[in-house]
Amino acid sequence: MPRRSTAYRTTHFTSQRRGWALPLAAALLIACKQPPPVVSEEAHFDFATDLPDEVCGGNLVGMGDLIDKVEELFNVESPHFVFYWLPGDQFSEHSACVSKGPACFRPEEGAIYSSFLPAGHEIIHAVFARWEIHPALNEGLANLFEEPTPSTHEPDPSVAIEDVLAYSGKDVDYPVDYRGRGAHFVRFLIDQYGFDRVARLVRVSLREVDLMANSGFFEDSLGEPLSEVLSAYKNAPLCPLVEARFASVECQSPPIRTRLGEDSWSEDIELNCSDADTYGSSEGAQWTPRTLDIETAGTFEFSLQAIPPEFAEVVLGRCGGGCGQGLYLRIAGGDSMTAELHPGQYYLLFARHEGAPVAFQLAVERSDG
Ligand SMILES: [Zn+2]
Repeated sequence: MPRRSTAYRTTHFTSQRRGWALPLAAALLIACKQPPPVVSEEAHFDFATDLPDEVCGGNLVGMGDLIDKVEELFNVESPHFVFYWLPGDQFSEHSACVSKGPACFRPEEGAIYSSFLPAGHEIIHAVFARWEIHPALNEGLANLFEEPTPSTHEPDPSVAIEDVLAYSGKDVDYPVDYRGRGAHFVRFLIDQYGFDRVARLVRVSLREVDLMANSGFFEDSLGEPLSEVLSAYKNAPLCPLVEARFASVECQSPPIRTRLGEDSWSEDIELNCSDADTYGSSEGAQWTPRTLDIETAGTFEFSLQAIPPEFAEVVLGRCGGGCGQGLYLRIAGGDSMTAELHPGQYYLLFARHEGAPVAFQLAVERSDG
């Protein structure tokens, strides 16, 4: 906000008005209260918060890893940005977000304002900020690379992809019910045409441009006319976005421990926010990821003990994800579960949703051999 001149202040703060001058000054101070200071200068962003001791230990490195991965996959260069972490009431006080919701990226400022961590969704918007891409692709990429909280934007079978691609309004007005469908379409494009060709499409697909009326973008980038792309897309299986997402950060985490004998694992974890591999908090949830490599397909039993068991769970997902091959299963503390697994790499999130630190004990055994 602009500074008021000294002349303005001396004219108005006369003695007879001193009764309200002090409260007014206090109100101005609050209105002008600066966002929190930068506490960490990372390779891709400056991290700003008033509560540096409450940032779980894995967030900043994980956020950097996400940016590195997306830069590499799409051959895009992230601009340097500022990340303001504003938990609780701080968000309504300091956020410059125009849209509703608990986080946003403001391209005009080069800043993310978020009430939670790690906010991978907004980070993806920041990474692609220079490309000014169509909201269907921009939001789709953000949904596919954000952290593994179950997405509220599931692909809606009643939404036609043609309508999503024809959207030519502003980013902030992009319809909520288009989001899941758009993300599902982006996942299909990546599976079908690969990252390089999709990166070319993303780069030319300007925002506020009707993509249905610019089908040349598709043919030039993907090497196939839009009509053929869309007819192939009609046969793509639908799935929840938690299965379709790429889980790139979790899948770089260390494997759980192998026990004596084949196809048997166990892991003991005490989850503490301050540990270097703990992420969050996001709506009270904190988590730490591990990986599991399955060499031969089969049925596996997962048993989870957790102290305390309330609000504790382990999420099992497939690295790389994808509709038809993805997976997203949740095992509550004190429960066990069997899962049919194909060969490949999986991730496990040891998560608590509320309360004190949790001690986890997970056992995994092949149960069909
Ligand atoms: Zn978004």
